[in-house]
Amino acid sequence: MEKDTNQISILIVEDSPIQAELLRRLIVSHGYLCQVATDGEAGLMKLKENRPHLVISDIQMPVLDGYQMCERIKSDPQFKNIPVILLTALSDPVDVIRGLNAGAEAYLTKPYDNERLLVEVRRLLSATPKEDKVTENKPLDVEINDAHYSVNASREKILQMLVSTYGNAAHQNQLLQKLEEDLHSLNQQLETKVAQRTASLVEEEKRARNAENRYKTLFDLMPEGVGILDTQEWKFIEFNDVACGQLGYLRSEFEKRSILDLALDNDKAKLLEHLNQALRYPQTSFTTQFLAQDQGLLDMDVRTRLIELDGQRLLNCIFRDMTAINRAKKIEWELEHKSTHDLITDLPSKTLLLDAITQSIHIADRNSSPITVLAIDLNRLNTITASLGHPASDAIQVELAQRLRAIKPKAGMVARIHNQDFIYLVDGSLDPSPITELLTRISRATSTPFNWNGAMLEFEPCIGVSVYPKDAQDANSLLESAEAALFKAKESGRKAIVLASPELKNEVENLIRKENELRSAFANGQLEMFYQPRVDLITGKISGAEALMRWRDPIKGIIPPKDFIPLAEEIGLIRSMTEWALSEVCKQQKKWSDSGIDIVPISVNLVAEQFQDDQIIKTLKTSLDESRLPAKFLEVELTESAAMQDPKKTAQLLNQIRDLGILIAIDDFGTGYSSLAYLEKFPIDILKIDISFVQGVTKDLHSIAITSAIIAMAKELKFLIVAEGVEIEGQREFLSSHHCEEGQGYLFSQPVPADTFKQLLINKVSY
Ligand code: C2E
Ligand code: CA
Ligand code: CA
Repeated sequence: MEKDTNQISILIVEDSPIQAELLRRLIVSHGYLCQVATDGEAGLMKLKENRPHLVISDIQMPVLDGYQMCERIKSDPQFKNIPVILLTALSDPVDVIRGLNAGAEAYLTKPYDNERLLVEVRRLLSATPKEDKVTENKPLDVEINDAHYSVNASREKILQMLVSTYGNAAHQNQLLQKLEEDLHSLNQQLETKVAQRTASLVEEEKRARNAENRYKTLFDLMPEGVGILDTQEWKFIEFNDVACGQLGYLRSEFEKRSILDLALDNDKAKLLEHLNQALRYPQTSFTTQFLAQDQGLLDMDVRTRLIELDGQRLLNCIFRDMTAINRAKKIEWELEHKSTHDLITDLPSKTLLLDAITQSIHIADRNSSPITVLAIDLNRLNTITASLGHPASDAIQVELAQRLRAIKPKAGMVARIHNQDFIYLVDGSLDPSPITELLTRISRATSTPFNWNGAMLEFEPCIGVSVYPKDAQDANSLLESAEAALFKAKESGRKAIVLASPELKNEVENLIRKENELRSAFANGQLEMFYQPRVDLITGKISGAEALMRWRDPIKGIIPPKDFIPLAEEIGLIRSMTEWALSEVCKQQKKWSDSGIDIVPISVNLVAEQFQDDQIIKTLKTSLDESRLPAKFLEVELTESAAMQDPKKTAQLLNQIRDLGILIAIDDFGTGYSSLAYLEKFPIDILKIDISFVQGVTKDLHSIAITSAIIAMAKELKFLIVAEGVEIEGQREFLSSHHCEEGQGYLFSQPVPADTFKQLLINKVSY
């Protein structure tokens, strides 16, 4: 509360009752007396009634406005010293000028600050009232916005007015500044909010990006290649490292690539077809081959899924490299195949063959139709194997397999059981072609020569035939019957077809049993060499001997060679048996010789098979070396037909044998068809006239003619002539009179055991 304010009264002129009341309370609260008038006219009335110390007036008022009222006050000498404060919402400088010209002391713009107003009030109340010097001063010319105004107020007043207006303005500025500060803080708050919002947005984006990253990681971590293709050019829009990595490409190399670039030229059309197909279905899958960066081919399993992204149709592809899996599958298949197929011919093996026959039996039972099983072999193939080696016989088997496959009936099967030399052909056709027709086809297929390294080899087929249900009732027995028939066919040594029968089966079973028996007999030393003397027909003395093999069975007794030598040849045991015979004879001779006996040359029989390779030379050498028997006490015999199988090779081997010092005899002479021209080329020492001619010389002219011719011819060629099978005196006489040097036969001696022959030598028997 201010001092002395009780006496001071202030007139408020304001037409707005609210504003008037607010102003009144302010004035009163500061200890001033207060009157209120609602317009200029009323204000002047109050002024006159009760002279105030100060007037605060609004400008815009009805009836008489603030300027006019101010002018009237200032023009009244009685009241002109009463200070007037004008309050206005107008802030134009022109208004200030008008206020100045009206004589007002202060000019405040609404909304005014209470403090500001009170400061003005106090200033004006404390100021000494001065004589207005307006009249003394020249009016001041002011130009505002191209308009000229003249200010009548004194300089001091103008200054005061400016200070007050400036103060107000300054205050307004402060307000503004505060407002600005508020605004600033608001801004800051806003910014903080924005920052927070941004942060949360960033967070959200980060989360989104994390999700994308997670997706990408997932994409990248997928063990399979993933790629997204556009559906126009089929280019990779997005792909993971596996997709390009599995093909050996860098990411950058893959980016510009179309999936079509990955296919081989020949596969492109097919791939495009698959891709277009993928556009028609939500999901598809296909396999294709892709060319890797290193030009290697990869088997790819492709699974597609049609997707839509931002209104664009795309193809999501998952690529699975199947190369390794396929390779593993292939190996598995090959292993499986190998286990069920013959190694040489790649024909189905026993398991598959039995399956096929069993299957055919079911069908045959339903249709009451037969099944034919044919076991097919080539004559002489064993011999070929022995001479040309296994590569040749394998090649022939492969060729034979191909030929038979080409002629096999539709529902048939060509198969080969491992380690069996022959091939089966099964005809399980519902409508079996007549067996003769099939046999003719087989005959034709086998009789075409086989080419081996330029040599044309000719064979004749041997075929064993068994028929279901006549010959056997199950798959296994059917095979066995056909095999038995084949054995029988082979016995003839010529082209042959043998039909199976229960008796035949027994026969073959016997044969097989015998084979086993022979093998164990040989192993157990049941073979023995007998010796049959050769006699000088002039002196009657033993000039030599032939070693002949016997099988001494503990139960059956002595088994003759005709019952086991052919079997030994068939089963390939003859070589070992001959080796044994040679070594046995040589050892025996050496033993006799060492014990002081006058030994004679002994001959050992060789077979055709031994004239196809050099093995025999080694065998002979070994026998001589091991026994240290002089070569002149060993002779070899080979038949005319054996010599003629491969005359060139025979000649070569015979020369080597002769070089060893071993004499060579041609056995069974006259039974073959050898020409003399050939015999001349062989280094032959002895010619053994076959028993059939010798035994005929006392009976038929034909034998006499041939025998005398052979003897004459042999003499010409300087061969030693031995007549075989001399049984009676008449034969001996004939031979002697025709100057045949030596004879061998029952007339002199049967083939006898070693000990008996030894006695003959010791006793120096003479016949
Ligand atoms: P081969 O080489 O022609 O032997 C002569 C055969 O005539 C012998 O039969 C002998 O006992 C028989 N023989 C001798 N004198 C007479 C006679 O006056 N009358 C009759 N009817 N026969 C007589 P063997 O010992 O039964 O031998 C038969 C065939 O077996 C031999 O015929 C030969 O081809 C073969 N052979 C015998 N031993 C061996 C051998 O160690 N190795 C080979 N590879 N074959 C052998
Ligand atoms: Ca002989
Ligand atoms: Ca003979």
